[in-house]
Amino acid sequence: MSAPPTAAAHRGLRRFRAPAPPSPERCELCGAELGGRHRHLVDTRNRGLACACPHCALLFERPGAGGGQFRTVPDRFLTDPAHRLDEVVWDRLRIPVGVAFLLDNTALGRVVALYPSPAGATESELDPAAWQAVRDATRLADLLAPDVEALLLHRDDDRTDCHLIPVDLAYELTGRLRLLWRGFDGGAEARAALADFFADVTCRAREPREEARRP
Ligand SMILES: [Zn+2]
Ligand SMILES: [Zn+2]
Repeated sequence: MSAPPTAAAHRGLRRFRAPAPPSPERCELCGAELGGRHRHLVDTRNRGLACACPHCALLFERPGAGGGQFRTVPDRFLTDPAHRLDEVVWDRLRIPVGVAFLLDNTALGRVVALYPSPAGATESELDPAAWQAVRDATRLADLLAPDVEALLLHRDDDRTDCHLIPVDLAYELTGRLRLLWRGFDGGAEARAALADFFADVTCRAREPREEARRP
């Protein structure tokens, strides 16, 4: 057995909260009790997620609030049916599996790709030409908010799907997949979890044009 390919990325990932934190949870900023589903803030300094009450989530939606360390994860889901992410672009990304999240990480100053693997979630730096190819292929790339959103790419046979999703969901899914992933392609359980996830994202996503029309 060889060592996991990117030990540094794994160290970074472990700092994120587990996908199912113990309840009752409290807002990590003001201590208010949280009921069930709640929003998250990205702690850009410590590269982690913090659970937040609605009040704190709203507060930190303002750019620069609290010195900019915490940023509220947006709750929008976007899709781009007109994308041109074909096989050529996909190959340039050098992602060995059929699913990946692209994140604009301001602490690292670059775009990284996060994808499941038999060794756990793996993060790899995207070369600027590959990122440019993604930007040329979908307008979602330029809408991606740094640190708090992820571009979800899914390659299945000869088709690629492309969505923009909240980053906490990306980490939740990679956490869940880490427990389920078997072999090279993930196995039946991981594929079922992915199918559920994509069904949910597809049903919530709308096109950016509709988004722009919203007040
Ligand atoms: Zn709070
Ligand atoms: Zn939480």
